[in-house]
Amino acid sequence: MRERLVEVWRQFWWDRSLATKFVTVYFIVSLVLVAALVWRSGSQIASAIEEEIEHELEIEAFIIAGTLGKDFEDMYEYGQAPGRLLALMQQLGEGTESRISFYDRSLNLVFSTDPRVQPHQTEMTTEIAAALANSEQHAIRYDPWTQEERLFAAAPVFGEEHLLGVVQISIPWRRVQTRILAEWTTLLFTGGVAILLNTLLSLFLARSIVRPLRELTQAARDLAGGRLDRRVPVRGRDEVGTLAVAFNEMAARLQEMIERERLFIANASHELRSPLTSIQLRAEMLREETLPPERRRRYIEELHHEAQRLHRLAERLLSLSRLNMRPETEALHPVDAVAVARHVVDAFSLRAARKGVTLTLDVPEEPLWILATPEGLQEILMNLVDNALKHTPSGGRVSVRVQAVNGQVQVQVADTGEGIPEADIPHIFEPFYRVDKARSRRQGGSGLGLSIVKRLVDLYGGRIEVQSTLGQGTQFTLIFPATSP
Ligand code: ADP
Repeated sequence: MRERLVEVWRQFWWDRSLATKFVTVYFIVSLVLVAALVWRSGSQIASAIEEEIEHELEIEAFIIAGTLGKDFEDMYEYGQAPGRLLALMQQLGEGTESRISFYDRSLNLVFSTDPRVQPHQTEMTTEIAAALANSEQHAIRYDPWTQEERLFAAAPVFGEEHLLGVVQISIPWRRVQTRILAEWTTLLFTGGVAILLNTLLSLFLARSIVRPLRELTQAARDLAGGRLDRRVPVRGRDEVGTLAVAFNEMAARLQEMIERERLFIANASHELRSPLTSIQLRAEMLREETLPPERRRRYIEELHHEAQRLHRLAERLLSLSRLNMRPETEALHPVDAVAVARHVVDAFSLRAARKGVTLTLDVPEEPLWILATPEGLQEILMNLVDNALKHTPSGGRVSVRVQAVNGQVQVQVADTGEGIPEADIPHIFEPFYRVDKARSRRQGGSGLGLSIVKRLVDLYGGRIEVQSTLGQGTQFTLIFPATSP
């Protein structure tokens, strides 16, 4: 039962669109509020009108009784015909559907402005009893002469000395009701217009929220479907506008990332193809049984060389992809940059000596700690020193320096080599970027070294700067936040 109810509720409410919910709630709330307001003010206005008319009628009866007292007396005392009186009274009640009747002391009708009223003796009704007691009172009751509900009021008529009779005045009750109905109609109409306006306004508001949301939904679907250039228009700076801006930023980032990834894969396949092709060629030649032993040895040597290159490339690709996949910053711990620099310079000293390049190390006595991993920091320095040696001719100099500067640890690798053209400097950290492709390949370069360096430096919270002058040399400066062991 409960589940069924929940299901029904779901279908009727939960699955409705945001705009429908919004407008429904707005409509119900305004309906309840307006209805309560109309009901309350309508009832108040109705009773105020009733009271006002009743009071007016009572006062009118007294005024008539007061003004006409003298004429009534003349009629009684001198037997004057009531003609003039009647004309006067008719004048008073003209056009108002009101009826004025005069009763004598024995409550017999003397005359009435309404010809339908036949001579009779009236009962002691509420208003007449009140008039005889010299007070005000009204009554609403069925009138047999006009066959409708009427409102009655009465007032005593005094001569010079004594009571002459009673003036009774009445109007149809429906006239009061018509006035009240008119008020109710105005109120209901105003209330209806208020509800309508409110609903229209809420519809407008709901649309202005829902439309951009729909656009966002469609854009998200397009994006998921592969349309990476999809963006949404930004309207205004409210929450929905901010969401649109955030969406566009996200889409742009996504597009950039995916495009970079595609380029990376294309480049990587290209890089893998050339060593693989030469391995295949050599292997095919080696199948030849008549191959002289001299050539055979050379091919085997070349095969080995290409395999090594492939191995190096695979390793670099692996380490770059590892760095791309959520690197674990928790694995970082204090590493002595001085010790690592010493180790790297030691490892390269033989190669430098063979090439005729002076490799120097300039480090302080005490250790300098940075937050890193020993292998990572070693990889950074090895890449930089390897590049420096590759690009510095015999007789040149490569120096590695580690020092504390302004509470930070600065690592510099400088050479007196060929330098990097200015136009290439902004690109050297991009994967597979090489200034001289053919030469780099010959020397076993993959174009990945500096991009690995950059990723690692970023991971360690440091930054990297390059200064280079063509024909004079290059200097890489790394700056890391210092830490304690
Ligand atoms: P590679 O494997 O080709 O060395 P890197 O990413 O390490 O790739 O370097 C990118 C390019 O930057 C190199 O191809 C080279 O042209 C240039 N480069 C890097 N270091 C130096 C340097 N010390 N002197 C001159 N050029 C350099």
